[in-house]
Amino acid sequence: MKHAIAAAAVLGLAAASQADPGVVRQPFGKLADGTPIHVYTLTNANGLKARIMTYGAIVTELHTPDRDGKLGDITLGFDSLSGYVKGHPYFGCIAGRVANRIAKGVFTLDGKKYKLATNNGPNHLHGGNKGFDKKVWRATVVRSNAGPAVRFDLTSKDGDEGYPGTVRASVTYTLTNANALRMEYRATTTKATPINLTNHAYFNLAGTGDILGHNLMLNCDRYTPVDATLIPTGKLASVKGTPVDFTKSHPIGDRIAETTGDPNGYDHNFVINGGGKGMTLAARVEEATTGRVLEVHTTEPGVQFYSGNFLDGTLKGKGGTVYERNNGFCLEAQHYPDSINQKSFPNTVLRPGEIYRQTTEYRFKTTK
Ligand code: BGC
Repeated sequence: MKHAIAAAAVLGLAAASQADPGVVRQPFGKLADGTPIHVYTLTNANGLKARIMTYGAIVTELHTPDRDGKLGDITLGFDSLSGYVKGHPYFGCIAGRVANRIAKGVFTLDGKKYKLATNNGPNHLHGGNKGFDKKVWRATVVRSNAGPAVRFDLTSKDGDEGYPGTVRASVTYTLTNANALRMEYRATTTKATPINLTNHAYFNLAGTGDILGHNLMLNCDRYTPVDATLIPTGKLASVKGTPVDFTKSHPIGDRIAETTGDPNGYDHNFVINGGGKGMTLAARVEEATTGRVLEVHTTEPGVQFYSGNFLDGTLKGKGGTVYERNNGFCLEAQHYPDSINQKSFPNTVLRPGEIYRQTTEYRFKTTK
């Protein structure tokens, strides 16, 4: 029955309300060249709602209950397409072909040197000038017993943003009836290429204000220290006794003043304890006033914890909200930054005949 509602709604045959479990597809404006963008609203059996659009496969809204069952949107973003097209710091998107940084935008693979855009100071960030976050993905509603699901597909041609090989990538978003937003990634390539995909949602479990009072636990005893341009030194260092020690849950703001950087704050890749082998808990965030809890589970070996340091009040988002510094945080499950240039880090090279896979879940719960 659920699927019947979903299919009918997608075909426009029935006026299924957005509160019904299933998937509803709606237009979400057009790009300057006329390309139509659509947004898919996934509603699970408990009324949780995720909206994801074909531009950047961006999660534009995510409504989860507080401890009283009241739904609220816990992600940063815009009400309409124009906000996203004008430029934004990767709100809700899929970052790729290689999320995070590649030092000086260069790497050598199988003896050949590749030069990529340096779009973040001296380095390459999140796939370059037109990464996966700015591409139009093809969406298909898929059947899943777990909950409403949509698969987003993208073809990134040989030479796209300087990377070798034609990559066919997909991410299937499922809003499970166990209250998780599951992302299952898959990719193949025609030539060896680095690949590292992640979702870049900015969360605020209270819905508004800064996130410094949110309690964070990272299941990570080590992190990858970086240079002044945020490129790892290659070491895996212990977090013990440092401001990046979140092994025991405590407020994000407790020691943020001791972090370096300009502006300072958290923008660190952590090594997940036992990570990279199967689904593993990476992080747990609790917000006391609403009782909302977010857990991140992933198959990836690392997680970038970013405390929204570069939000500076210049962006006006949903409902006219001005996004100030630390108004949102990201927990980006991924391989470590600059892995393609760091021999000791887990491999990010995908070769023809291989299948890249990663699964990450944002699980939503509440405390009393
Ligand atoms: C990076 C930040 C960057 C942000 C982009 C994060 O993944 O680590 O340094 O500013 O993405 O908005």
